[in-house]
Amino acid sequence: METMAERRGERLICENPLTGAEIADVPVMGPAELRGLVTAAREAQREWSGRSMRGRVTALGRLRRLVADRADDIAALVRSETGKVMGEALFEVAGAADQLAYLASRVPKALRARRAATGWVSNRRARVSYEPYGVVGAITPWNFPFVIGMSTVAGAIAAGNAVILKPSEYTPLTGLRIGELVGEATGLADLVAVATGDGGTGAALIQAGVDKVAFVGSVATGKKVMAAAAASLTPVVLELGGKDAMIVCADADIERAARGAVWAAFYGCGEVCMSVERVYVVESVYDAFVQAAIAEARSVRTSDEPEAMIGSLVAPFQVEKVERHIRDAESRGARVRLGGRAISGPGHFFEPTVVTDVSHDMELMRDETFGPVLPIMRVADEQEAVRLANDSEYGLDASVWSRDRAKARRIAAQLEAGTVLINDHLINYVMPDLPFGGVRHSGFGRAHGVEGLREFTRPKSWVEDRMTFGREPYWFEESGSGESTARALLAMRHGRGPLRRLKGALRLMGGFLR
Ligand code: ADP
Repeated sequence: METMAERRGERLICENPLTGAEIADVPVMGPAELRGLVTAAREAQREWSGRSMRGRVTALGRLRRLVADRADDIAALVRSETGKVMGEALFEVAGAADQLAYLASRVPKALRARRAATGWVSNRRARVSYEPYGVVGAITPWNFPFVIGMSTVAGAIAAGNAVILKPSEYTPLTGLRIGELVGEATGLADLVAVATGDGGTGAALIQAGVDKVAFVGSVATGKKVMAAAAASLTPVVLELGGKDAMIVCADADIERAARGAVWAAFYGCGEVCMSVERVYVVESVYDAFVQAAIAEARSVRTSDEPEAMIGSLVAPFQVEKVERHIRDAESRGARVRLGGRAISGPGHFFEPTVVTDVSHDMELMRDETFGPVLPIMRVADEQEAVRLANDSEYGLDASVWSRDRAKARRIAAQLEAGTVLINDHLINYVMPDLPFGGVRHSGFGRAHGVEGLREFTRPKSWVEDRMTFGREPYWFEESGSGESTARALLAMRHGRGPLRRLKGALRLMGGFLR
């Protein structure tokens, strides 16, 4: 498999992408071990969901404290597995701590049972409670191993579930650290179990009896996950890739837009699902924007120093993909205006790259590149920009850059994406109250926010008697089909004119009092 980290027998070898050095090896878990983890997790889940809401919230608070106190340690581990610079790694830790703080403050209200209306059945009482699924299988990627892993786990446990976390084969150590932190904060070692391994381990997890699958990763694997989950009708939530578009209007602040584009395209070395991967610039400001973007991109320093602006790509397969996209674009007439090449090792570094004269028949404008590449396309006007932005299989984030807020909103309303931003990009991810997710091949279901929390619950509807009669009017009548009740109900609820409705109500009441 192209994307697999090196596997030797039943062990997985972890490499530091900055140096190519081996840093650890971990087991590749198989079906039997996974079933064992699920059984133990189910036990822990019973204990966890039996705790009071206050007890769970306190544990989430402790977890946040542990994460914040050990930020440097966690960030160093993330850096050693992903090649990120220190700032990015620390941002992951901050993002995870923010999610935990948000959950601790919001979960009691968001998951409190709510009263529900009972329609015409006024002698009943109804409510909806939000129940945990039980054991959630979380399969996560390598690009943000800590913040994605921790926020998925945190949402699931906040809702009362246990979790089996299957971290990427490139970042198992960060996954294991998440499990340890949760164990320490909750006192339940099996509440979050970490299943190390490759894609096969992920596939086995889906078959291991989990009650819900939360998957974050590529479109191709997301489709496999959904197909595999279909066999047992296990529900899935899928956060897949993106090919985010940025639209630069004629009245945008061009210098600022160029700086924003360079940041949002190169942050995390472009290995971010809501990276800017396509920029559409209106003709009248195109040349100025390209010049400003090249100047800005030239100042992006990439190296193995912790203080560099961007670090390395995660593994050779990423370097090959980025190169393939650039070469394909060049062969179809694109111009590489800056960078364009891998930097020779050690480490998997790539030059910050700006490409112009691109079109939608290039892989670079269609498929997720996931590298430090900024492709810029000239468009006649904003309508053409919207059409092209929406001409994608993906739909995660999209942004509009303009000084005219009303116009920017009108354009944003036309963009088919899970999140739209005006004069910024990416930053929605660190706003814990905003649901995060996409449309089309970017997936479905949401992470974060109340919507993301509810994703880990099953609504359970409750009906109780408030006032009862010997025989309810909607039960079997002594003879007949209940036609008189049905007719009375139709007249009361939907009859034309107040008189008919009143008559219907009286007849229905008569039925209750019979
Ligand atoms: P990415 O390259 O973004 O990490 P992948 O889709 O390759 O995306 O991997 C995401 C996660 O899915 C990883 O943890 C990986 O091990 C796991 N995975 C890969 N193949 C499968 C599969 N067939 N079933 C379940 N999980 C899988």
